[in-house]
Amino acid sequence: MGAMSVRAYISRRVVTPDGVRAAAVLVEGERIRAVAAIGEVPADAEGHDFGDAAILPGLVDSHVHINEPGRTEWEGFETGTRAAAAGGYTMLVDMPLNCLPATSTVAALEAKRGAARGKCLVDWAAWGGVVSDNQGEIEALAAAGVLGFKCFLINPGIDGFTMVTEQELRAALPHVARTGLPLLVHAELSGPVDAATAKLVGADWRSYATYVKSRPEGAELAAIGLLVALCREFRFRLHIVHLSTSEGLALLRAAKDEGLAVSVETCPHYLHFAAETIADGATLCKCAPPIRGAENRERLWGGLRDGVIDLVATDHSPCPPSMKKLGEGNFKTAWGGITSLSVALPVMWTGAQKRGFALSDIARWMAEGPAQLAGCGARKGRMAAGCDADFVVFEPEAEFVVTKERLHQRHAVSPYLGERLRGVVKATYVRGKRVFAGGGFPGEASGREFRV
Ligand SMILES: [Zn+2]
Repeated sequence: MGAMSVRAYISRRVVTPDGVRAAAVLVEGERIRAVAAIGEVPADAEGHDFGDAAILPGLVDSHVHINEPGRTEWEGFETGTRAAAAGGYTMLVDMPLNCLPATSTVAALEAKRGAARGKCLVDWAAWGGVVSDNQGEIEALAAAGVLGFKCFLINPGIDGFTMVTEQELRAALPHVARTGLPLLVHAELSGPVDAATAKLVGADWRSYATYVKSRPEGAELAAIGLLVALCREFRFRLHIVHLSTSEGLALLRAAKDEGLAVSVETCPHYLHFAAETIADGATLCKCAPPIRGAENRERLWGGLRDGVIDLVATDHSPCPPSMKKLGEGNFKTAWGGITSLSVALPVMWTGAQKRGFALSDIARWMAEGPAQLAGCGARKGRMAAGCDADFVVFEPEAEFVVTKERLHQRHAVSPYLGERLRGVVKATYVRGKRVFAGGGFPGEASGREFRV
């Protein structure tokens, strides 16, 4: 063969960084050659016309717990990336915990690479852990190819990954700052959580209100305050994961206005559910920090509107069904984690279009924003010339009810089951290859690690 053949993916609604328009996405090999006017499709191009279905950039999820190696019975590269492909995601960045060993050493990163090989439908990359005693590994992890770091200011509640105290964090930050990579932080402080929990002796732990009381907004606020001060002192890139309280928005806006390198994410579950309507014993909704009230939820949408919240990531955190303690419904002992890779796009679109947002907002929050955080924005997260040909064919007006068959993760355990959602993922393409279409997975597992 001579010149590589060009494929033209045509739609009345291609979501580009410059707006939504009728266009042909011209793909050559694994890359987008151009987003062209429909009249400019080369005569010899192989055409695929999606009509009214929109073409969005492939979503990038910067907050996923794949759990492999070590806890593959919870989730794994095969099932996690299948769930991602079905949900319109074309790249996942894996959190360093819940797998064993945790990704806090270069050897553990290599073990993860070995575990991923040949299993991924979509591309992936790793965050490295910052734990109590691995300050000496941080720069080596960066050199070995992690895209950034993650730490906890409170016990993560799982073996194999330790939280950091302020003192340990201070020891780590000069190393983090030298890498130039972001530090993603679970922003809740133990002090306020322990104090609140101590007051709940004898409380009814089947009640969601008890759980919310045990993790007060003040724990998030205190952590954010500390982190912003450390960001000012050490000049590292700070990223707050899964912001749940809107009370944090003012602090974060002020830090951004000051010019500090701070970014913020929230998750679909904080934007979809509300504490008032979570039933007693409904531990499928348990996550940390907790889902708060309906007014708080509207203010989080406001944070997205104002740009204080930069992106939406799933925090897809699966476990075997038994760990959700569905029988006893105890919010104290149930595993905290919500899975949403297969449905996050329609969950977000359902809420967003009701509030007057557009598909371009979804693309910014769920593709471009996470790609920028992970340092892969030049190749991922946008429908633009030179980027990887990662995209989603999405029917924004179609509706469906979430059933187990729609969830392609290892365990079909989800608080979204039974929800009526707007927007259906018809197909997902990774670097020009179709990996999801018509409810199935036609492609090979050709996803690979993204390396800068
Ligand atoms: Zn997480």
